[in-house]
Amino acid sequence: MTKTLFNHYKNLLPITSKTPEVTLGEGFTPLVKSNNLSEKYDCEIFFKLEGCNPSASFKDRGMFMAVSKAIENKKNKIICASTGNTSASAAAYGARYNLETIVIIPSGKIALGKLLQAMAYGAKIISIKGNFDQALNAVREISDSLNLEIVNSINPFRLEGQMTGAFEIVDELGSNPDFQFMPVGNAGNISSYYKGYKLYKSKNNKLEFPRLIGIQAENSAPLVDKKIVTSPQTIASAIRIGNPASSSLALEAITQTKGEFLKVSDKQILEAQSLLAKKEGIFCEPASAASLAGFLKYAESNKDYKGKKIVFILTGNGLKDPEVAQKYLSSDIVKTTSKVEDISNAIISGKSKSFFSKFF
Ligand SMILES: *Cc1c(COP(=O)(O)O)cnc(C)c1O
Repeated sequence: MTKTLFNHYKNLLPITSKTPEVTLGEGFTPLVKSNNLSEKYDCEIFFKLEGCNPSASFKDRGMFMAVSKAIENKKNKIICASTGNTSASAAAYGARYNLETIVIIPSGKIALGKLLQAMAYGAKIISIKGNFDQALNAVREISDSLNLEIVNSINPFRLEGQMTGAFEIVDELGSNPDFQFMPVGNAGNISSYYKGYKLYKSKNNKLEFPRLIGIQAENSAPLVDKKIVTSPQTIASAIRIGNPASSSLALEAITQTKGEFLKVSDKQILEAQSLLAKKEGIFCEPASAASLAGFLKYAESNKDYKGKKIVFILTGNGLKDPEVAQKYLSSDIVKTTSKVEDISNAIISGKSKSFFSKFF
């Protein structure tokens, strides 16, 4: 039998004999040990590569569960509001399990790769003049009357499925990490990790909570600034959310794990994205790089992470957002003829420029 999240973690998930198995091969993503950063910061850093999921973000961990339950409950249409990755994931599972998928997106605010995914999987795409929070409000209001199953993280099964991220980390490390840095948008994922660690802790009294450090973008930081942001702005579109649906559970997660919320600037996010690519060979999307940006900020004023095990949740693949990368990547490609001598000279004299050399 192929190992799936559905069958491997069945006893920890809301799965009964009536729940049909839904899978696209989600989960069991690599937990890669850092090569260069661990040494520089004198701690043990691990990257959880959630971009290796089937639709290239962690959203698939919740989606397989939400779609299993939707089918169990005889729904044939699913709907979500999305900054991009939820719609890509919902559309993929919807296509595979013959569910009509409707996605409501803020016009002009979706990363190109994510939009193309929703189109490729055949979702009905409705683009609104408004932001994510307005799209989610609309979804909440219309889903009942149109008999649509909401697959946003306000669907409790999404949060249950996403607990598997925490299970995998503990299973692989053989213990809990000491710290976990992760981006926070609608705050569903940090809530899920908290629930997942808590469930494992209740079964094994040797485990402790990792300190959960949730990272937001500077002008989209309702949980750091403790107020709703009506017009959130950041280059990291996956966390461009001004009124997180899971705020109270996320707050509990921070309090119970002795963690905190931190905010970082777009410049810090892009520098972290570059650093991960240049120093670790990992190209993640901007929102995911906020994890590292947050750690770098944390490390400026704290030293308690030294010698500790630290996990960064790299939530999505960098290829999803080519437009942001293209804006800042150096376009200084050395051009030459096809003559071997010219190519040889180009190798010797051509300089490789830094990732953001043009912008910063
Ligand atoms: C959805 C998403 C987030 C934010 O997760 P929340 O559960 O909304 O806090 C972060 N990064 C990526 C790549 C995402 O797709």
